[in-house]
Formats: sequence, structure tokens, C-alpha cells
Amino acid sequence: MMPVGETLLGQIRAVYLGRATDEEILKRKVASGGAVTAMLTYALEKDLIEGVVTAKRTKGLEGEAVVARTKEELLETAGNRWSIVPFAARIKAKIEEEDLKKVAVVCLPCQAQFFGQMRDFPILETDFGNRIKYIVSLFCMGTFAFEAFLNYLRVKYGVRAEEIEDIRLSREFLEIHRETGVLAIPLKEAFSYLQTGCLVCSDYTGVWSDVSAGFVESEPGWTVLITRNQRGEELVRGAEKEGYLELRDGSHVLGDVLKKAREKLARAQRNMAQLL
Ligand code: SF4
Repeated sequence: MMPVGETLLGQIRAVYLGRATDEEILKRKVASGGAVTAMLTYALEKDLIEGVVTAKRTKGLEGEAVVARTKEELLETAGNRWSIVPFAARIKAKIEEEDLKKVAVVCLPCQAQFFGQMRDFPILETDFGNRIKYIVSLFCMGTFAFEAFLNYLRVKYGVRAEEIEDIRLSREFLEIHRETGVLAIPLKEAFSYLQTGCLVCSDYTGVWSDVSAGFVESEPGWTVLITRNQRGEELVRGAEKEGYLELRDGSHVLGDVLKKAREKLARAQRNMAQLL
């Protein structure tokens, strides 16, 4: 049965720091360690799944749901949660359109809840949870209301959507990476452009996933992997065993993850109090 979180971080089987062993993945995902790409490449190449439903950046910050079936296709996907569209319906449509029977979904915590509940507590005939083998959730502080956020970047900082190569979160700033350099925007300022639902969302890691993945500043070049159940353990440890992933114990970074989760919860409580 899918875990229902007893703590803010949900049920935890193990915490690892992971890094891809493949040079090409490492080169392309240098900041993150590429662990998510590596373990999903393992699942694809060992036929544990037929495809990975994830997001590919289209323009600016926008993304579309795509199915990746190879390492190369995975590498072309966003790898950046700011581009992940927070609409589970688009992912559902993709799975049905391509008639996929066994997929991994890389998603945000709100989507992980939708997919996890559907997979483990199916109610409707239209549910397709039995097709979802793995749910991998990325840590999330929010996604932007694209139009408003891009308009603000253009008007205030002269940044055009097509210039943005990546967006990263540091302790105090949202970093907009461009070919010409990095623009650091104070978080408080940037976060006023989040989607409304994000302002009252309290799940930072994705407690309904099989594996949660994200970063902490204290371990650059490594991905934090939180496994939540046997499926998650099999995916992570299987990728290690087959040589796709290098793993270290990550229990020492759990405090950093919890700190972010508490910040998100406090924000949700503040915003909720204003609504009530
Ligand atoms: S903050 Fe919550 S609602 Fe917003 S995209 Fe992230 S998980 Fe979804």
C-alpha cells in the first residue's frame, strides 16, 4: 500500500546521494549529478518500463508532456522542474495516446499525489494507475504563472524568454541562467509570481512517489534520492547494481531537505490563513 506520510517528508525507506556513472549524462547534468536520468535509463534499457512520461522544454519556461524511450530522448527532456507543467491531465493523455502499459512518470509532488492515489486506490474505470510502474517526484517550491513571470522578467530585467537556459534555486535567490551570465533575483520577489495553487501547497518532496529527487546546496553535483517503498528501493538499488548509478548514504542531508519542507509548509499556512 502506498504510504501516507507520517511526517512532513512522508514515509522514508532510505536516503541516498546519487550520481550517474555515464559520462554523457554527467556532462549534460553536471549540476544535478544526473541520477534521475541514470536510473530511468536503467529502467528503459532493462525493459522494466516502455517509456518515461516527463516534460520537455518548449519555449521560455514552458514545457510539454513527452514520452522518452531512450537515454538520448531522456537527455533531451527538461531535467528542470520549472518547465514541468503541473497538469496531470496532459500526462494522462500522453499515456493513453501512445497506449503505454508500463511507464515511469517524472512529475511534481502535486502530480505524484494524483498518480499515487490513482495507482494504489483505484476508483474509476477510467483510472490508468495500473500502467504506472514508477513515480519519481522532483522537489518543488512552486511553478510560475508563465505569462506573468516572463512579462515581469522582460519588463524589470530585460530578459527574454528565449534567452533562459536554466533556472536554479539557491538559498536566497532564484538564478536565471543565460548565455550572457546569471541573474540572481531575490526569492521573495520572484515567488510572488507563483501559480496560486502553489502558494497553499505544503508537499515539498512528493510524499506519494516511489522515489523523490532533488538537490541540496551542501552536496553540489549529487542528487538527493529518497526511496519510499520497495518499488523505489528496487529502482535505485537496481540502477546501482547494474552500474548506472553511484550511490552514497545521504542521511546527513535530510535536515537540509526538512528545512526547505518546513519553509514551504509555513508559506502555505500563512497564505491559507489569509484566505480563511
Ligand atoms: S508547489 Fe505544489 S502545487 Fe505547485 S507545482 Fe509544486 S507540487 Fe504542484
